[in-house]
Amino acid sequence: LIRLANITKRFGANTVLDDLSFTVAPGKHVTLIGPSGSGKTTILRLLMTLTRPDEGTITVDGDQLFPAPEKQIREVRKKIGMVFQQFNLFPNMSVLRNITEAPVQVLGMSGDEAEERARELLDLVGLADKCDAKPTRLSGGQQQRVAIARALAMRPRVLLLDEVTSALDPELVAGVLDLLRDIARSTDITMLCVTHEMGFARDISDQVLMFDGGRVIESGSPEKIFTDPEQDRTREFLSAVL
Ligand code: ATP
Repeated sequence: LIRLANITKRFGANTVLDDLSFTVAPGKHVTLIGPSGSGKTTILRLLMTLTRPDEGTITVDGDQLFPAPEKQIREVRKKIGMVFQQFNLFPNMSVLRNITEAPVQVLGMSGDEAEERARELLDLVGLADKCDAKPTRLSGGQQQRVAIARALAMRPRVLLLDEVTSALDPELVAGVLDLLRDIARSTDITMLCVTHEMGFARDISDQVLMFDGGRVIESGSPEKIFTDPEQDRTREFLSAVL
């Protein structure tokens, strides 16, 4: 469903992604692991069209995202939802409005339909009673649940998760990870995650990609990568983080 082919991305003299290619099959949950600065977040930002590749092609669900005319980029972009480390909710809108805004503005959904869907999603994430609250009145864990509901409201084919628990107090992490595990199990959504939570990566992933120096240096099932990696670099990385 997601295909990156020969992607190169530079920031000045710094080549962050170096002729990178990988694919994520429909409905699969793939996790990117690797040292800080290895380019993991840059991949998610490319898919969100927050930054552009210098070379290479990206296709999503059979449609080319890059290179493509702006109109096509905007269309393909609608298939992708993202949850960020820092929640990025609209602080001056109610929780409900945070969720209904994009379906109404971007997909042209009616207000009533968007609200009905938002209430279902708030129920799913365990926050049915917080519709009218402002995000700043919620805990970090609750804000991240709203952000997850907001991403799902667009009915994306692909959900990108960028270190979604790293800004949370430790006692709130498990609840958010449990919710994501439930979503991974109960939907056919394709997920691409960047995480430092190796337990979560192990649990949720069909495939783990080990990144270093802007390339995938090893990939495999979580069992294989976490118990019997082939590359010394992967072994070193895992022994430092586990
Ligand atoms: P972490 O695990 O710390 O989040 P990461 O693997 O996600 O790291 P990226 O955030 O993708 O790494 O960053 C990869 C490299 O690209 C880093 O060297 C970073 O400094 C550089 N970089 C990222 N965004 C920009 C930017 N907008 N301008 C310049 N350099 C950037």
